[in-house]
Amino acid sequence: TQRFIWPMSQFGQIINMYQRAYASAARIFGLMDEPARIVNDPDAPALDVDTGTVQYSDVTFGYETDEEPTIKDISFEIPGGETLALVGPTGAGKSTVLKLLLRMYDVDEGAITVDGTDVREITIPSLRESIGYVSQDTFMFYGTVAENIRYGTFNASRDEIIDAAKTAEAHEFVMNLPDGYDTEIGERGVKLSGGQRQRLSIARAVLRDPEILILDEATSDVDTETEMLIKRSIERLTADRTTFSIAHRLSTIKDADQILVLDDGEIVERGTHTDLLGADGLYAHLWGVQAGEIEELPETFIQRATQ
Ligand code: ATP
Repeated sequence: TQRFIWPMSQFGQIINMYQRAYASAARIFGLMDEPARIVNDPDAPALDVDTGTVQYSDVTFGYETDEEPTIKDISFEIPGGETLALVGPTGAGKSTVLKLLLRMYDVDEGAITVDGTDVREITIPSLRESIGYVSQDTFMFYGTVAENIRYGTFNASRDEIIDAAKTAEAHEFVMNLPDGYDTEIGERGVKLSGGQRQRLSIARAVLRDPEILILDEATSDVDTETEMLIKRSIERLTADRTTFSIAHRLSTIKDADQILVLDDGEIVERGTHTDLLGADGLYAHLWGVQAGEIEELPETFIQRATQ
């Protein structure tokens, strides 16, 4: 009978996932496209986040078992509330590091813990509910602005939605839309700019209030004022929250508590912005390129930022 029960419980998990709509992070990272290799132990306890300290210990992972690992022996600790930035050339493994945190894949060697608990020993929904995701590419559905901010936080009141929008510096532009918070967005409604979508995505994260945040800072052609508003709202969102920042533009990660420079699945440099500039290695070189001091871009670094 085991054989028949298994697919049913898988099915139940999928339904549950849509009902909860819990994980915009997992969705954005293409959870639905990934093979269902990870099995949630239904008897596992839920994650109970305390300070939100995340530790990677000697983590090695490869998508294909017979090929060179994508992530090679990575170790770091991000104390609760701090910000860690991941930088490196395209394909270096930045997204993969975070897919492992979300448990879209399990590590081949080593371990990832949240507040000392191995992510394999807690339920996957509880893990993913604790992790928020902010990006300009964040999924928005056809519906009103309010519905899009509330996404995943079904019991939020109108006042809470508006407060979140204010924290995200989105309130003002929303009020200027034809029907304010009731304006329909998406193809049949009002089209939002990249900077507006990003701020709605920040408002959504403010409302969900996850202990851990993944920030994917794609560059957009926003004007200086919008950039300043986004920066300010991100500062509010990330304060006292464990934050992983995938940086495509170095100027946005200057203030990170730690920067990891990844190259070909390995940490090649680590430190603060000041440390790394002083080290005069890959990071300093990349910084020089972006600051316009060096004309040639090494390989494909920050390709997305320049597209
Ligand atoms: P970018 O800055 O372009 O987003 P990245 O540093 O985030 O790059 P990853 O997306 O983590 O890099 O990819 C690391 C390596 O793993 C790449 O060689 C990529 O082709 C490979 N890879 C990523 N996803 C998969 C997958 N689902 N199956 C097999 N290989 C994959």
